Amino acid sequence: MSTTGAGFTSKPVDFLSIVYHIALLRWFSELGLETPTDDALGYLLQAEKRYEAWWDMLKETKPDPEAIIIPPIDVVLMWHTHMLNPRQYQEDLYRMTKDHSLHKYELPLKRINTVFMRRKAADPMDVKTWSLFTNLPYELKVTDSAPEPWKVACPWCQTTFDIPHVSYVDIRTNPKPKYSAGCPDCHCQYFPDMVSAKAFWDDWQAWTKDTTVGLRGAYLDTKSGDWDLDGAAEKMEKLHALFQELEAIPPDSWSSCDWGHILRYFSAAQSLLDIRNRHEHPFTLGTAQIEKAYRDVVGPFSVSLWSSALYNFKTIKRILPNFWASSDVTKRHANRYHAYLVALNEHDQDLPSASGFEPDIAWLTHMLRPAHYREYTLMFTQRVIELADRVALADQVVSTGSHDEYAASHASHDSSLDQRTRGSATPTSDSTPVVMSLSDIKFMQTMAHQDGNSRVLSHKGSLASFEYK
Ligand SMILES: [Zn+2]
Repeated sequence: MSTTGAGFTSKPVDFLSIVYHIALLRWFSELGLETPTDDALGYLLQAEKRYEAWWDMLKETKPDPEAIIIPPIDVVLMWHTHMLNPRQYQEDLYRMTKDHSLHKYELPLKRINTVFMRRKAADPMDVKTWSLFTNLPYELKVTDSAPEPWKVACPWCQTTFDIPHVSYVDIRTNPKPKYSAGCPDCHCQYFPDMVSAKAFWDDWQAWTKDTTVGLRGAYLDTKSGDWDLDGAAEKMEKLHALFQELEAIPPDSWSSCDWGHILRYFSAAQSLLDIRNRHEHPFTLGTAQIEKAYRDVVGPFSVSLWSSALYNFKTIKRILPNFWASSDVTKRHANRYHAYLVALNEHDQDLPSASGFEPDIAWLTHMLRPAHYREYTLMFTQRVIELADRVALADQVVSTGSHDEYAASHASHDSSLDQRTRGSATPTSDSTPVVMSLSDIKFMQTMAHQDGNSRVLSHKGSLASFEYK
């Protein structure tokens, strides 16, 4: 059995979790962030920063998962976004805490739903605990007429200096920023390409002193996406030896510190290795994963959370109208997800194509149980599946016109389902915000007041056939 306690016989996703998740997506959509205005971008960047405080809190207090506080909604949004990148999530967690046990925390969907249903009024105890620990206000406003300037530590001389909020948001989010900001001491110009390249070189140098702290992205197995500490050590040692041969050294000035420079060395290192290994098995240094985990990512995580959250609003906008209409649809999606996992397992190592499967709510809900999700997808597919894997498969199907047996056997079922839900949702799916109907509210209130377990049991009939014993 597993070390994380997720059994093969337990259901990956239950109906009620999906319902709670839908309520959370509705709350996210009500924040009004899907259009990247300056206010929305400023909010997302602040949320990303506040999420760091949440990790400090989890790391230090290691609360009982059942009694965890509900962090502010902006922090929940970042946590949710981070979890939807399951590979990087598990690696960040390991790199930042060296504690696998923190993988056990799941998004407390049921309790978040309770707050949502009482008109988003936070528990006073949660507010107090959050504020005492983080020294940050609980509520973050999307529109703030006078936001504080950002306090930034210079990556070269460590001087802390202020960047006005408007300039900071522009520099962080605009590929061609109008504003600029520089360190008053060493005069380096602050921009994401330089800052993230410097973070790479700093981690590189840190590794030469302490080999237990590797580069972001290096811990992930290039095939399965699962963490692999031995593999990381091998990759780091090989890359280090090759960099020494190539005389790749960290730049001594901010003006020559950029990703173009690093990528040239990455490519030279892999080519050199390929030439030497041409009569053996090729060895992949995994530099694409390392690049992905650093490039233009400012902060300690290996995902650009603000932009990932912004992107997810598109998915949320597609999901909400389709999954609210009927609880039967939601239940069917939980079943389809289980069936899909079975199909993945039966197809051995090859993922069957995902036609007819949008990145659906059951899949996303499962990702909010990170340890369980990792075990399940490793068991069925020998890899930690990411949303991008599935989207890529769906695209492949569209472009080649091919389809797999599973999708074909479900085609009629899916099209009738989608026509029905999409048809009813058309008027609200584009520009107008999604509004809860009175019956939706009543349904949610019933859910919030019912005991979770008995509710799940009453639906067990439809899910039982997909349990694995
Ligand atoms: Zn400086």
